[in-house]
Amino acid sequence: MKIIVQKFGGTSVSTPERRKSVVDKVKKAISEGYSPVVVVSAMGRKGEAYATDTLLSLLSSDFKDENKQAADLLMCCGEIISSVVMSNVFYENNIAAVPLTGGQAGILTDDNFSDAKSLNVSTKILMDILSQGKVPVVTGFQGVTQDGFLTTLGRGGSDTSAALIGAALKAEAIEIYTDVDGIMTADPRIVEEAALIDIISYNEVFQLAEQGAKVIHPKAVEAAMRGNIPLIIKNTMSDCKGTLINNVGDIQNTRIITGITHLSGRTQVSIKSEDNQGNNHYKELLDILANNNISLDLINIFPKEKIFTIDDSMKNRLEKIFKDINIKYTIIENCSNLAIVGSRMTGIPGVMAKIIKALSDSNIEVLQTADSHMTIWCLIHTDNVQKAINTLHRTFELS
Ligand code: ASP
Ligand code: MG
Repeated sequence: MKIIVQKFGGTSVSTPERRKSVVDKVKKAISEGYSPVVVVSAMGRKGEAYATDTLLSLLSSDFKDENKQAADLLMCCGEIISSVVMSNVFYENNIAAVPLTGGQAGILTDDNFSDAKSLNVSTKILMDILSQGKVPVVTGFQGVTQDGFLTTLGRGGSDTSAALIGAALKAEAIEIYTDVDGIMTADPRIVEEAALIDIISYNEVFQLAEQGAKVIHPKAVEAAMRGNIPLIIKNTMSDCKGTLINNVGDIQNTRIITGITHLSGRTQVSIKSEDNQGNNHYKELLDILANNNISLDLINIFPKEKIFTIDDSMKNRLEKIFKDINIKYTIIENCSNLAIVGSRMTGIPGVMAKIIKALSDSNIEVLQTADSHMTIWCLIHTDNVQKAINTLHRTFELS
């Protein structure tokens, strides 16, 4: 049996017209000889009757925080409604479908309500339904504990359900249907000629987290990667071939860079040892910040200076701590961290040099850099983000 998992997000199942497109995608898979397992999210977005956020808005914040188990039970209703409604649409289109909760589909989790972790996926019920030639329509986003309590897998977790089921069934592929064509070389609102990425590796998607994670949940990428099952991001409302995510990425392609993203709202902090002589707190600074829950990024430690970035929202907290322990420092606010990602940059000399040259030719000041085997990060002033990403997109011929 050739199994394929087809997951449809909230907007994909939100209207009769879109639900018809879902049927078309499933019919196409069947006509190609696949046995599909459908996974659905709750219908629509906040404000629409059965969307997860709408359901949550029925509860008071205190109750929600203190009764995660109850909130999970309520949230699970969104996907349950969606799976039964979608099964009805399949029925109208002569496809025999069986709606199932996450637990019925075999997803067993721990009892960490609101962010439960899958412990095991048992495939027996799914396999029985598939072998009768029927289509299981599984509620995304949820599982069940050993004791029978319904859990949710973290917001956006329907992708995770699809990946867990795909890996357990050793599916040929997991298709994630959404309202965009796939993962792009850059944010199309920033770069007009941004192009669709045809093939990308699991690891590159993690590196493109900002943009990649908006299109697919990182936990889903992790689960698919563990089972080595190809993930395909597709648009429910078009026939675009989408983005294939697999282990190796695009081996035919010789392009060094796959995509560029950025994270705004960063503040750079520099602390010089000569400004803080005799202050015993200087050498414990990183511990002090960690104990105050301030997470640091782009950390560079030199004999005479420490430089790192923090989220803008942490700036006041950091300044108060530094004042209390009398640390002298300088900061640059309104920075953005560019992530220039490509698995083929490993071992290729001159990539950083090319980036720095392109940015300096465009008069863009680089405040700090860091690199790993497949990513180069450059901290720049946020005002320059648009220009910088466009420049690099052209330099590396990404369109
Ligand atoms: N409906 C859930 C949420 O809004 C799960 C999902 O859409 O993936 O978080
Ligand atoms: Mg989603």
